[in-house]
Amino acid sequence: MVVDVTRCNGCYNCVIACKDEHWENDWNPIAAAQPRHGAFWISIEKKERGQFPRVKVSYTPKLCMHCHAPPCAQSTSEGEVYTRPDGIVIIDPGKAVNRKEMLGACPYEAIFWNEEKKLPQKCTFCAHLLDGGWKEPRCVQACPTHALVFGDSDDPHSEVSKILATKKSDVLHPELNLKTSVFYVGLPKAFIAGTAIFGDTDECAEAVRVTLEDPSASKTLTTATNNYGDFEFENLMPRKKYLVKLESDGYLTASV
Ligand code: SF4
Ligand code: SF4
Repeated sequence: MVVDVTRCNGCYNCVIACKDEHWENDWNPIAAAQPRHGAFWISIEKKERGQFPRVKVSYTPKLCMHCHAPPCAQSTSEGEVYTRPDGIVIIDPGKAVNRKEMLGACPYEAIFWNEEKKLPQKCTFCAHLLDGGWKEPRCVQACPTHALVFGDSDDPHSEVSKILATKKSDVLHPELNLKTSVFYVGLPKAFIAGTAIFGDTDECAEAVRVTLEDPSASKTLTTATNNYGDFEFENLMPRKKYLVKLESDGYLTASV
């Protein structure tokens, strides 16, 4: 799955579709029914960045990453978790009863405890539907903005392969090196933004050259202010010092 965070508007259609598909519906041997409350096999993380009046909001869908070497499977010994040939990681509802310790084994906190059934449960990529001929899980089908894309990354002609070949993608917690099957495009990063005003006229300063220097990496980015005097640099490292220079003919250079 590829999740394009820049397209997600936080409508929660995917969350509702997941609940609709799995609540009170028994899809054994892929998944037992999901409880009505408390379990969200896909969830939306809302994040605000910046300071007023320059605030950005992003919504990041989160679900089981279907890791290639899943720690949840390593926490068991009787085949309670297995990986299908298509790469989907399944918690066997017939074998995993009472295995609550599995929740702590997932670093993505993607496993939920079904108290009524005494069962750990998580996203299955709707494998029961895929086995019935569907091309994508319910969450992907329900997304109105095409923020979720699902397919075969071994097929170079699939949409997921094309996105991964042409766009910069990230995984969540790359330091864990779990070779996940969920990739993210446009994860929120730090940004620097501001407004330039000509001091003599108190007017918005349009077409000011703005340079961002990263002294530690000898890297420079440039842009120009728009007709409101606004400028912005995206995809920066958080908690790092940058130097911003504003230059316009006939004016002193300003540095921040
Ligand atoms: Fe298992 Fe968690 Fe990886 Fe999903 S994200 S496969 S539940 S370790
Ligand atoms: Fe985001 Fe799509 Fe889910 Fe809506 S349905 S919250 S746009 S991923």
